[in-house]
Amino acid sequence: MLVLLITHNLGIVAEVCDRVAVMYAGQFVELGSVYDVFKRPVHPYTRGLLQSTIHMDSKELYSIDGLPPDLVDPPAACRFHPRCPYAKEICSTRDPNWIEYRPGHFASCHFGKDFL
Ligand code: SF4
Repeated sequence: MLVLLITHNLGIVAEVCDRVAVMYAGQFVELGSVYDVFKRPVHPYTRGLLQSTIHMDSKELYSIDGLPPDLVDPPAACRFHPRCPYAKEICSTRDPNWIEYRPGHFASCHFGKDFL
């Protein structure tokens, strides 16, 4: 049996899911086991999402800079590049490849190796 859960609630994902796919602007940016994606995220958007999760000891709420993208006219190449703190020129000119960084753990980022 398969259950597909679509949510913004990362706590629920951590509790009930085995695998997780992270989407940004209508595209998959990371996919893997919940353990890998939560403990060792590769994509900067996933990293930002996890940083913005509130914990019991949170002192302030982290938010990702910038605004959600216009889905009618999304940014070229990596759609996250206008908000990404690690963006370089290539990010706005070439689509990042979907790369398997660990067995079953995929992400699309030109610099994913830097975040392993
Ligand atoms: S490809 Fe570039 S802009 Fe996109 S997530 Fe990776 S570093 Fe950031």
